[in-house]
Amino acid sequence: MNLSFKIGNAFGIPVRIHATFLLLIYVLYISTPDPLLVLGATGVSFGCVLLHELGHSLVARNFGLRVADITLWPLGGIARMSEIPENSRIEGLIAIAGPAVNFALAGLAILGLFAGHALGLEDDSLPHGFLLVFTGINLAQGGFNLLPAFPMDGGRLLRAFLGRKRDWLRATESAVRVGRIVALLLLIGALLLMREGRGSCILMLIPLFIWFEGTRELWGVRLRHGATPFGAGFGFRPSAPTPSAPSAPAAPLPDTADAGERGVARRPQLWQKGDPRAGGFNEDQVRWLEAYRGRLRPPPEEP
Ligand SMILES: [Zn+2]
Repeated sequence: MNLSFKIGNAFGIPVRIHATFLLLIYVLYISTPDPLLVLGATGVSFGCVLLHELGHSLVARNFGLRVADITLWPLGGIARMSEIPENSRIEGLIAIAGPAVNFALAGLAILGLFAGHALGLEDDSLPHGFLLVFTGINLAQGGFNLLPAFPMDGGRLLRAFLGRKRDWLRATESAVRVGRIVALLLLIGALLLMREGRGSCILMLIPLFIWFEGTRELWGVRLRHGATPFGAGFGFRPSAPTPSAPSAPAAPLPDTADAGERGVARRPQLWQKGDPRAGGFNEDQVRWLEAYRGRLRPPPEEP
């Protein structure tokens, strides 16, 4: 069931809005019954989430990944893209791009506040209020996404950092473990807020999302590395290291060129046959590895 609907395109990427975005309007409405403020704040927060996701998407596209679409949810956005290769630099740059957009927007708004002050703008004027809210929303979005809660941006940065020195599987396991601790702390915080009657149960969705999405990605990485999805001892200890390099499958894998949503990183038709840079692996082995880890060879030159 797809509860989102397309509202337009940005840089050629379809932008969708999820029906639960209406919940955000509702939450804002019960916290402040001023319809104009509710609509304004929703619009600004919506725009900032979109720009944040575009930051991720455009950097990803720069690395040859395909961005299928961006869906805006009440608690943030999700850019669906072809799988990010197991590469610290690529993952780190894609992850930092979103919060960087927020901090850049906040910086611009602060400059605007200073300029307004110099021009004698009243502190209770509408532009001043707007710039203050805009700065606050962007600092909050950028800061919150930098929490080391994998699969949020901060957690991805942590994995990229750990992945520089460690096996990608170990790095993912450590990042997910830290993410679960952050999720538990957020859950306790949400429960305390609710007990005081100040929070909404929607806040509980964030830690649940972090826990389940982090676990889902961890299972994927474990399976890819030949480890059991549950790891050793309930998933809190590192799994056994991957025994050996995978051997080529007996029969060649079916061509995934027509797999629709799957991205450039998985499209064998873009690879050059008999590329001398392929190194010690034969064509089938490289295809097998690229199917999981993204493109390993440089893209073909433009004609
Ligand atoms: Zn992000």
